[in-house]
Amino acid sequence: LEAKEEFSHKTLAMDVMRPRRSDPPLSVLTQDGMTVEDVETMITDTTYSGFPVVVSHESQRLVGFVLRRDLTISIDNARQRQDGIVSTSRVFFTEYTPPQPPNSPPPLKLRGIMDLSPFTVTDHTAMDIVVDIFRKLGLRHRLLGIITKKDILKHVAQIANRDPDSILFN
Ligand code: ADP
Repeated sequence: LEAKEEFSHKTLAMDVMRPRRSDPPLSVLTQDGMTVEDVETMITDTTYSGFPVVVSHESQRLVGFVLRRDLTISIDNARQRQDGIVSTSRVFFTEYTPPQPPNSPPPLKLRGIMDLSPFTVTDHTAMDIVVDIFRKLGLRHRLLGIITKKDILKHVAQIANRDPDSILFN
């Protein structure tokens, strides 16, 4: 058991964070430039509960985090109720929406459904600290990767080798 605790202490966020090197890259949305169709494709091609929103693929700078459920609801609503929102409409998570070129469909503004301050830790943060943060704040995710509650539960279960549900959130 001592050996396990030792291991737990030395595990870093990078060891638990997804994706692993061999996995497909993190699925992110960009704050501007995507179309409704691009976003819908990301929703149907993945099963993740949410997506980091970044400035651009090049910068990967984190802007916020958006839940899959909220994206789906907002797009469905907009398609039904907002005049002119179609597959080729541009999606904006930015504060300012530039005027759209003539003859292009109206933009879909989704800043309102974005969490602007998702909790972040560096990949070098010790996992016992990350576990503590999840415990105390009831949390979710990050950018080099992402750590969900289940990732943490699996990690803790591995370390403690017992029922994960009995450990973290009770
Ligand atoms: P849960 O862990 O509760 O099943 P998800 O379905 O969102 O939640 O995540 C499944 C796995 O995929 C987790 O290991 C998580 O770290 C990872 N993951 C979550 N969101 C993304 C994303 N946008 N891109 C890549 N991997 C992700």
